[in-house]
Amino acid sequence: MSTSVAGTGSAVTLLARITRAREETARAGLDALLLTPGSDLRYLLGVADDSFERLTCLVVPATGSAAPPLLVLPQMERPRYEVAPLAELGVDVATWVDGEDPYAMVASVFPHGGPGALAVADMMPALHVLALREATGAPDLRLAGRVLRELRMRKDPAELAALRKAGAAIDRVHARMGEWLRPGRTEAEVGADIAEAIVAEGHATVEFVIVGSGPNGAVPHHGVSDRVIESGDVVVVDIGGAVAEGYGSDSTRTYAVGTPSQPDVLATYGFLRDAQQAAVDAVTPGVRAAEVDHAARRVLADAGFGEFFIHRTGHGIGIDTHEEPYIVAGNDEILDAGMTFSIEPGVYLPGRWGARIEDIVAVTDDGVERLNNQPHELIVL
Ligand code: ZN
Ligand code: ZN
Ligand code: ZN
Repeated sequence: MSTSVAGTGSAVTLLARITRAREETARAGLDALLLTPGSDLRYLLGVADDSFERLTCLVVPATGSAAPPLLVLPQMERPRYEVAPLAELGVDVATWVDGEDPYAMVASVFPHGGPGALAVADMMPALHVLALREATGAPDLRLAGRVLRELRMRKDPAELAALRKAGAAIDRVHARMGEWLRPGRTEAEVGADIAEAIVAEGHATVEFVIVGSGPNGAVPHHGVSDRVIESGDVVVVDIGGAVAEGYGSDSTRTYAVGTPSQPDVLATYGFLRDAQQAAVDAVTPGVRAAEVDHAARRVLADAGFGEFFIHRTGHGIGIDTHEEPYIVAGNDEILDAGMTFSIEPGVYLPGRWGARIEDIVAVTDDGVERLNNQPHELIVL
């Protein structure tokens, strides 16, 4: 994205997040987090920005450090950060111009023989990681995502409102599918119409469009192709965008273009429908993420389709479309109120057809709230 957009956070919210981030940093035994532009930086400052070869980096010192948070950035990028209430947040700003050494500016936060342990943004470009390690001399570099996950997994009311808004917007796009999904059109043509509608129905950006028709539906991350949709095809439509606040939608429905030409579609889809419902029903505070995965998997395995459900049941969603908690076997994370994630089991019959049903859900104080509410049946157009 090329423009700066404020996130959901008021200055009060952002300051609380920064304070908690500093506490978690101390708890993890780290001296500071080093965050280049990306979802963590957006979470703490409310600014959407991309990483470039010129260093922009927010230094978040652990609680107890004498140094305040410091934003090091190129002078020419300063206007992008004017939407952030930096003074209210107690964030110092140090700008640099071409020819100066921004890595040394970061290192100057740690005067006494350098830091012991630092954590860098998970998606920081390697050119910045290596230069920061060199400049700070930090012997121990870790991932900031391990620290910030504790904050970002539990959404506050404003974040939940943004996710609800995104969910309702993508539901409106699915509700209009009959306008576009017809025999004789290519997946790419249908996908272009969907992308337009994703914005028209209230998103600021289109994040992804999957239109998997016929055998392409058996490839979970198929995008779109020039395949012409035929009467009788089953079509997997998995779409998402982000609203202006930066939070995403992600919902899949499976459509039949006329009566399905494959004889096993209706019965198989019924098992998938049951699996998705079972997983949603399993969501409540105190349950492990792995148990939700198992709830969906067991239904499909009992029906003989276990080997055709070839991915995890879901992923967290927020500022990133895929974030923690992951709803996957082996994840013992305990679900807690405010967590938001997808429930998206699928059945993929190679070379023939596939189906997936995906809703975003939020864990409430005593159960679950669906953020997607389009019908879950196989939708015959
Ligand atoms: Zn995916
Ligand atoms: Zn999806
Ligand atoms: Zn998803």
